[in-house]
Amino acid sequence: MSTSASTQRLRNQIALVTGGSSGIGAGVSLALAAEGATVVVNYSHSPEGAEEVVTSIEKAGGKAVAIKCDVSQEADVQSMFAQIREEFGTLHILVNNSGIQEDAPFLDMTLEQWEKVIAVNLTGQFLCAREAAREFIRRGPQPEVSAATGKIICMSSVHEVIPWAGHVNYATSKGGIMLLMKSVAQELAPHKIRVNSIGPGAIKTPINKEAWDTPEAAEKLLTLIPYGRIGEPSDIGKAAVWLASDESDYVTGVTLFADGGMTLYPGFASNG
Ligand code: NAP
Repeated sequence: MSTSASTQRLRNQIALVTGGSSGIGAGVSLALAAEGATVVVNYSHSPEGAEEVVTSIEKAGGKAVAIKCDVSQEADVQSMFAQIREEFGTLHILVNNSGIQEDAPFLDMTLEQWEKVIAVNLTGQFLCAREAAREFIRRGPQPEVSAATGKIICMSSVHEVIPWAGHVNYATSKGGIMLLMKSVAQELAPHKIRVNSIGPGAIKTPINKEAWDTPEAAEKLLTLIPYGRIGEPSDIGKAAVWLASDESDYVTGVTLFADGGMTLYPGFASNG
């Protein structure tokens, strides 16, 4: 992450990473900061995780702050954006990453489990994207900083296209993100705001620990990954840097799957 080794593709830009305090969000925060962005590391319950990410960024010579906000609460989101504007003047990059799972068989799923996941994973992305777009349009173009007036990256999942029994609330939230992202991309393109998603496959983070932290679980998981390894948060960090940078300036409205081939229907590889 040393600034001399980095290409500084995001210098002079302010980035907000929701759920930057853990897992993929932490990896994305480190990667954006290594490219010169000042990173706002959002958290809702884990100040320690957020502070750890901020400290790592600062130790490497970057700039970051932690801000608490529950992304499912409109007033909280609006106050986080007001804080960002007051402290940094504006925002250039939003990574809509916060997400949770509350798994249950469909017949037993409670309304509370359904509503909680939709509120954080889908409504949270709507609220943050709307505030970010309002700020990008208020500030207007800054071509000396970035070709686009603003960039929004939604953290989706392979489950925006792969159905997932036992996780109906989660898969629904990710399917919703797909058309949220595409519809917003269509509406905001005339403002030179690019909106894309990343669809991670299986990435080693606390959200899915039981799926990879024993050799038996990892072996089972690997049968779903043609590329033969479980992903790391840094794999997603690299994809986020590309989507946030001018290198992807002609890219909007797409989901970039970073999944080692999980969406290639691996069950058909030897079933032709
Ligand atoms: P994680 O390690 O559990 O991190 C989740 C993050 O979301 C934490 O920083 C958490 O912060 C934050 N968060 C939870 N509720 C929030 C709320 N109400 N407001 C604001 N932030 C909140 O999980 P992860 O694996 O990194 O997941 C990150 C994203 O990637 C999610 O959208 C997930 O669906 C997606 N994803 C993950 C995988 C995977 O294999 N890991 C695969 C596909 C997609 P606090 O702890 O402070 O609440």
